[in-house]
Amino acid sequence: MQFPLGGGNTAADKKPPLMLHNTLTGKKEPFHPLKHNEARLYHCGPTVYDYAHLGNLRAFVFADILRRTLAFFGHEVRQVINITDIGHLTSDADVGEDKMALAIKREGEEMTLEGLRRIADKYTQAFLHDLERLNILMPHALPRASEYIPAQIALVRTLVEKEYAYETSDGIYFDTARFPHYGALGHIAREGQKEGARVAENPEKRNPEDFALWKKGGDLGWDSPWGKGFPGWHTECVAMIHALLGKTIDIHTGGIDHIPVHHNNEIAQAEAATGKPLARFWLHVAFLTIEDTKISKSLGNTVYLRHVEARGYRALDYRYLLLTAHYRSPLNFTWRALDAAHTALRRLQQYYFSELRGAPEGNPDPRFLQALAAALGDDLDTPRALALLWETVKDSRMPREAKRASLLAADRVLALGLTELETQVQKLSFAAPLPPKDLPEEVRLLVIAREEMREQKNWARADELREEIARKGFRVEDTPEGPLVYPEKS
Ligand code: AMP
Ligand code: ZN
Repeated sequence: MQFPLGGGNTAADKKPPLMLHNTLTGKKEPFHPLKHNEARLYHCGPTVYDYAHLGNLRAFVFADILRRTLAFFGHEVRQVINITDIGHLTSDADVGEDKMALAIKREGEEMTLEGLRRIADKYTQAFLHDLERLNILMPHALPRASEYIPAQIALVRTLVEKEYAYETSDGIYFDTARFPHYGALGHIAREGQKEGARVAENPEKRNPEDFALWKKGGDLGWDSPWGKGFPGWHTECVAMIHALLGKTIDIHTGGIDHIPVHHNNEIAQAEAATGKPLARFWLHVAFLTIEDTKISKSLGNTVYLRHVEARGYRALDYRYLLLTAHYRSPLNFTWRALDAAHTALRRLQQYYFSELRGAPEGNPDPRFLQALAAALGDDLDTPRALALLWETVKDSRMPREAKRASLLAADRVLALGLTELETQVQKLSFAAPLPPKDLPEEVRLLVIAREEMREQKNWARADELREEIARKGFRVEDTPEGPLVYPEKS
């Protein structure tokens, strides 16, 4: 879906630049895709050992806003979100247990690759369901790490051949001393890394920041030149990026927790292997806290989308809440804030439904598009885009058709389900029972005949007539006030 800004000559038609904050440089920079007009995006995806919590989902709503904004600015987009189903240990460093192995044990599954697949399937499906409810567009590819093992082995082999990697008794490690720019992303000083303790944990490592490209052993593994084992978590993203998007992509994203270790490690191994930058832009989304507390399983404060829905809110209320904060600002989730988001979104949808539904087709107001592009183009300033939406709602001078088209254009980026009430009402009216006068004559007569059979307690004949009515595309529901007849096809 694409709707570039107008190409006319008026000032309002001039497209402002899309500025994105690049963690690599610490600055906002104008974005242009490297290749033709196609922006290639990679987002570090979920580790499918459990349901995605509201914090994880913030990362993917952000990725969706980025994708839709790129489309709004006229770019083609190719988007990949990976599914981590192997190699992510309980610590981002190379210690602890594989999170998938933990889930296999927790759920009493077999410790085999088949068991792994079943757990991965279950939580991948749940993740996709979350994306759908949050109006997040399906990425063009959702590769699983376990399906790219040969590509990961090939990458590790290249690094060994180029002498960027060395073997220890428990794996193959990347030698960060051979990569002088190590830690450039987010200016993570080599000495300052908090994993200094890792040397003590693994005396065979040459430098504290060295990380595993391949781990030997483990309960779940594949054959490799270094024996049976599994790839390191940082290796999977690089192998899948190279396979699906190319050596250098346009934008790579993830949560801020990925800056110090995961993303610096991705950069080191990719650039050592290819001699090319892995991504031109690195964007990071700030963390969501719950009631001012870090989301943590051990604290038991994890909130999932199903909890939101169980309290009578909709997933899109949560999307609205996320858009009220800039993606680089920390956001605190409270039920009160969700309630306010719910009220605001309902008001917006009701306004559209009562005031704009059925307005003639029109074009968006050029000044509105200009202001929307200025907001989104300023590093995806969604709070400003929402404020603009509300100003437009209150603007009594804007003609109805322009207002409708403007709000719909904004909703293609914000995806707040502006027309949801209209769709619901259409469905409801379709599902409403038809009065006898609106029924086809033959159906009306069949319904009367069936009522007579019911009065005579001839249930067999009454059932036959029900089936005959069904074959004509109608469903009869018996109520104390008499039969209600619904059109069957909805
Ligand atoms: P994981 O499933 O742990 O690999 O995380 C998936 C994505 O969610 C990653 O991009 C993380 O950086 C991000 N993430 C994890 N916790 C939070 C949080 N509390 N707020 C925002 N993003 C988060
Ligand atoms: Zn990654």
